Parts: sequence; C-alpha cells; structure tokens
Amino acid sequence: MSDQSPSSQAPDEGQSPVLVWFRQDLRLADNQALAAAVATGARVGCVFVLDDETLSPWQMGGASRWWLHQSLAALQKTIAERGGTLILRRGRGEAVMAALARETGAKAVFWNRRYEPQGQAADARLKSLLKEAGIEARSFNAGLLVEPWAIKTGSGGPFKVFSPFAKAVRAAGITGFSGPAPQRLRPLEGLASDTLASWYLEPTKPDWAAGLRATWQPGEAGAHARLTGFLAKTLRGYATTRNRMDLDTTSKLSPHLHWGEISPWTVWQSAHDTAAQDQTLAKDIEIFGNELLWREFSHHLLAAAPNLPDANWKPTFDQFPWSNGEGPEVAAWRAGRTGYPLVDAAMRELWTTGFMHNRARMVAASFLIKHLLVDWRIGEAWFWDTLVDADLANNAASWQWVAGSGADASPFFRIFNPVSQGETYDPEGRYVRRWVKELAHLPDQFIHNPSKAPALVLGEAGVELGRTYPLPIVDHSFARNRALAAFQSLKAAA
Ligand code: FAD
Repeated sequence: MSDQSPSSQAPDEGQSPVLVWFRQDLRLADNQALAAAVATGARVGCVFVLDDETLSPWQMGGASRWWLHQSLAALQKTIAERGGTLILRRGRGEAVMAALARETGAKAVFWNRRYEPQGQAADARLKSLLKEAGIEARSFNAGLLVEPWAIKTGSGGPFKVFSPFAKAVRAAGITGFSGPAPQRLRPLEGLASDTLASWYLEPTKPDWAAGLRATWQPGEAGAHARLTGFLAKTLRGYATTRNRMDLDTTSKLSPHLHWGEISPWTVWQSAHDTAAQDQTLAKDIEIFGNELLWREFSHHLLAAAPNLPDANWKPTFDQFPWSNGEGPEVAAWRAGRTGYPLVDAAMRELWTTGFMHNRARMVAASFLIKHLLVDWRIGEAWFWDTLVDADLANNAASWQWVAGSGADASPFFRIFNPVSQGETYDPEGRYVRRWVKELAHLPDQFIHNPSKAPALVLGEAGVELGRTYPLPIVDHSFARNRALAAFQSLKAAA
C-alpha cells in the first residue's frame, strides 16, 4: 500500500478525528501526543509511517528494522486491546501524513518531537503545510528529560562539557509525566493500512536474528519489565559494578529508550523513587542518573552540531591520517577475529545480540580507531547497522568521544589496552569465554592474552594460534606508538 492510496469517503464525517503520528515513541503510557489527542474527545487515528527517505543516509540499519517490527507488533496489540487500530503507511513521512490528514478530514495532527536534524526539518515543513490547510499541528516532548534548546550556558549558548550540563539539568528540575496509558481509544475505522509483514523488516535469507529474539522483548511491556527487573535486582551496586562486562549489571534499557517504548521520565522517576526509600542506593542512583544525562548531552550536542554523525566536532581532526579503506583488518574487527579476546568477544556479542556492553564499546571502538588507525565513521556505520539501540545522537557523540574528536571527549592519547581492560573488567574471563568459545578452556591467566600462553597451556586448552584462534592482527605496543605518532603529526600541523 502506498501513501497515494485512494481516499474513499472521509470515514468520520460526524466529527473530525485527530491523528497521532508515532515515531520514536512506541508506547501508550506517558505519551504526550497521544494523551493530548485523547483529551480532545475526538476519534484518534494512530499512525506509523515507514520512511526510508527522510533520515537518509541515516535510515534504519538491519538490527533496528528487526526491533521496529517487534515493537510495532506489540504496539498494534495494545492499541487494539483499547479498541483502536494502528494504521501503517509507507513513504516520505511528511507527505504521507499530509495526505492522510486530507483523506480523513482530520482537524489536527499531533506528534512527539524527534531530534535527528533532517527529521526536525521535515516536521517543521509538515507543521506549516498543515497550518496552511487549516489543520492544527502540535508537537510535544516525550523523548528527552530536557530538550536541547531548553537549557543554555550562562552566555546563552549550548553546553560543550558534560559536568556543567548535567549540573544545570539537575538544577532546572526534571518533570513532565503526562499520565498512564489511555483506557479506551475511539477508533478511526475504514482506513487502508499496510500489513507489518509486507514491510519485510525481519531478516529471512539468512535469518540472523535468532540471538536477538533470544535476548530481547521489544515493546512497552518488555521495557517496563526490564526497568522493574533492573530496579529490583541491579540498581544496587551499579556505581561500582557497571563496568564489569562479565556481570549483568546495567539496565539494558537503551533500545527501549531509543524507540520510546518507555519514557525517560518514567525511568528517571522510578529509579529515584526506588532510591528514595533506601539511602544506601544514593551513589548508585547518582551514577545511573548521570548515564541517563549522557543520553541527554548527546542530543544536546547533535542539536548544536547537526553534522555530528558525519564531521569531526573538532576540525583539527580533519587532518588526522585515518585510513578509511575496507581492508582485511576492518573485516577482522567486524567479525571478531582480531586476536584480542576482549575486542573479539565484544564484536561477537554485538553480532549475535545487537548489543554490546558500554565498556566493551569503548574498547572495541578505541581498537578500531587507534590500534588500526581507521576513521571513526567506519565503526560508527557498523554499529549503526548492527546495534538494536542504534541512535543517531548517542552513536555519533560516543564515537567522537572515543576518537578524541568530539566535545568533552576522551583525549586521543588515552589508548585502551584491550588486555589490561579485560583483566580489570572481566577478571575471570567469563565474558570472553561466553563469546569466544574457542578460548573457553584457557586458564584465567591467559584468557585475555593467549599469545603469551606457553605452547603446553595452549595445547591443553585446544587452542592453536593462527588456526583455531587468530594471532593478534597488530602488536599493542607498536600500534600504540604509531597512534601517538599520528596524533603528534596532527598537533604539529595545527
Ligand atoms: P545503562 O548503563 O543502564 O545506562 C542507562 C541509560 O543511559 C542507557 O540505556 C542509555 O540510554 C543511557 N546511556 C548510558 N551510557 C551512555 C552514554 N555513554 N552515552 C549516551 N547515553 C548513555 N548508546 C545508545 O543508546 N545508542 C548508540 O547507538 C550508542 N552507541 C555507542 C557507541 C560507542 C562507540 C560507545 C562507546 C557508546 C555508545 N552508546 C550508545 C552509549 C552506551 O554504550 C549505551 O547507551 C549503553 O551501553 C546501553 O546500555 P544500558 O542500557 O545497559 O546502559
């Protein structure tokens, strides 16, 4: 079904409906646009548009498409349980929505704001188009604790450093809950809708999503279950253990937050309510709150620099001698065959589950950028395609953070040593053993550095370096010195 589907008669002649355009807010609870539409008392048309044009070249990657399929299926179900329907259309979002507003004789179109620069431009165009046609257009904040333009430095500009940003957000106060899911939705009937299956969002040949299915429960119910489990079992100790890759110590809420299956206010407020009952959680909630604020900061940076996903925040890095080729080293990195067990575990976790622990992301990204001297944008694109939480702001800001080219970034000369990172944050090698099965029988002492193991130990563990598991594709000390020399040349040229 295309966005040009013929309009029959406006199905709701008695009373004009209100359309709610769902995008990255795939939930019913605490959904400002939906709550406002329901409050009008009109019939509500819930719409999702599959749009591969507006955000190009940052249209959804494969893992995101898989997630979207599941999340829309869940949303369809919860809307249907309340008497409504979710209309699915395909095409350029603004054109589809304008056409649908005409087709239904809608009196208003409501949506929650998105923050990708191209998306915002499209929304602004739609707003004026609808207004010209005499149709009310209203947008809301349902995706961030504080929208980028709502908070400014003393001199009126955007923040470029995280700590003062976080302090200012906390000082401004965090509010915004718009209420629980509506009990009933007055349906808008008689409208043509695509079927979800006809969008082929799920992979088939080959079906690489088995690991994703085993790991995640996309949708609003899954998001709330994840939050409840985290608050009950994992928040305690978060401050001290969140960097441990071998333990399940973080919330794994990132894909749910990206798709808006749960609101950031709900996460923030529930976590603070839990901590308020128990003083011993004070440090844990402070650190967890900071991580949520990093998400806000990334969006703040993207608003300040709309080309953040494509261009160095610090222009001096434009001269950096990155390689951007598709050589065998990049292929080894993607496949988790670098010969560095921690990097390989991380990349295999990503491929199998669509997720990677934050510390593992930092080490794997640093390895690509600094050990292999590959342009951070190559890694950013791979994460974009494979992460279920792929998020334009978070991904771009984080890659630039690791590269040293970003705002408030890790200095370039901070080069993670994948062996010592593994020894510190995966001390018994459980994370490596889970994902790099061919090393499972190595003793803890060598699990992060198999090339240092004596031949006898390797033999007993069934490891033959270069055959069952790769030799390191680059020597750590050599790579470190090479990266520092490249950085020096950049500084000298500046
Ligand atoms: P928790 O530790 O439970 O944190 C709670 C929430 O805070 C997360 O769900 C997330 O929404 C937010 N958050 C935590 N850390 C960060 C951070 N450093 N920056 C921004 N937000 C954060 N995160 C994404 O959501 N999408 C991405 O595409 C993405 N790409 C990344 C790429 C690289 C190279 C790196 C180093 C980090 C990236 N991150 C990205 C940030 C971070 O790794 C993930 O948000 C985090 O690992 C998600 O796990 P969690 O939900 O268990 O986090």
